[in-house]
Amino acid sequence: MKRVIILGATGSIGLQALEVVATGRDLTVVGLSCGRQVKTLVEQAMAFGVTELAVADEAAAAGISPGLFPEFTVRAGAGAAARLVREVEADLVLNAIVGFAGLEATVACLEQGRPLALANKESLVSGGRVVSGLAAQRGVDILPVDSEHSALYQLLGGEERAAVRSLILTASGGPFRGRSLGQLRDVGPEDALAHPTWSMGAKISIDSATLMNKGLEVIEAHHLFGVPYDQIEVVIHPQSLVHALVRLVDGALLAHLGVPDMRVPIAYALYHPERRVGAVPQLDLASASPLEFLEPDPAAFRCLELARQAGLAGDAATCALNAANEVAADAFLDGRLPFLGIPEVIERVLELTGQASPAGYSEVAALDAWARVKAREVVVEKAGFA
Ligand code: NAD
Ligand code: MG
Repeated sequence: MKRVIILGATGSIGLQALEVVATGRDLTVVGLSCGRQVKTLVEQAMAFGVTELAVADEAAAAGISPGLFPEFTVRAGAGAAARLVREVEADLVLNAIVGFAGLEATVACLEQGRPLALANKESLVSGGRVVSGLAAQRGVDILPVDSEHSALYQLLGGEERAAVRSLILTASGGPFRGRSLGQLRDVGPEDALAHPTWSMGAKISIDSATLMNKGLEVIEAHHLFGVPYDQIEVVIHPQSLVHALVRLVDGALLAHLGVPDMRVPIAYALYHPERRVGAVPQLDLASASPLEFLEPDPAAFRCLELARQAGLAGDAATCALNAANEVAADAFLDGRLPFLGIPEVIERVLELTGQASPAGYSEVAALDAWARVKAREVVVEKAGFA
């Protein structure tokens, strides 16, 4: 039995991971965490026989006090997920927390040299070399859960690095694919949340609409696979059937295909290095065609280029980019910022960011906090002039 801790268990990835566990064999859940959805967490804990829990929101955690649920050990507050990782023995940690909040648990997991299945791409965008350095130092192979990176991990498995010319990430293009800059001026949160091919949490859905998700994924790929930015390409592929490709120096192009269903990369990471029969249907190639591939529009979707520039500038810039993006996406979801204000906020915060790379978790956290303050100021300024 492989003992697994699932962080962010109540979210889109967490729920699908528990489905993989429930429909499969040889995996047992030994720890669960959430932000604040304690009702769901308790249901999950009971269904999977888990007693070790973590809840980030203190007030929400009061709902599972020892008086009410003596069977549970509940860690509460900021850092609760990281404490769960440190205190509970496990063979694998799946980090499916959303946003910068996932970094501390990633660091805790790597510090212990524990295998990590990583859905929380923001860990690598904010933490950059702190995370990849720790993984290298402790000899931990990070198993990507993001579908494109899971595909790349599988495609790169048998290749010499010198044979790889570039990595290609595919993007569905999100709900606004094909729209011009002018056609994005008045779009609202409901339009942005309606993703054509993937059903996901709110934050990553907004990131998919701005193409920042692909920008974050370019940075994620850089750190996961140690490939320079000029060797990471992005192509729009509306069908979402080809998840990623690898160009080789001899002209061969390897592609990874499958139905767009996150249970596939989740199961790959949970069972690695084994492969199991999945509950997901096989892709029927005859009904899948035609497959289209298009260039992204850099004028309408500026976030992609901002992310690439931040990547080239270094770890301070990618950390600030991530923080500003979280604040801006939140403000857009609350109706405090127009859609096209998102890249404007990020660009302004990047202009204010210094170059010195943060050296450890606390420096990354301090920089993230600083960038959030700046981003909130820019959001307020923009609202004032709206
Ligand atoms: P979600 O919003 O559906 O779920 C997020 C989970 O994190 C929930 O369990 C929530 O309770 C928890 N959480 C929220 N704030 C927290 C905090 N401050 N501290 C601790 N826990 C907190 O998000 P999701 O769509 O499942 O995405 C999770 C991660 O996986 C993200 O990094 C996302 O980019 C990545 N990812 C998601 C998908 C997808 O299809 N949903 C695909 C690829 C990558
Ligand atoms: Mg992805």
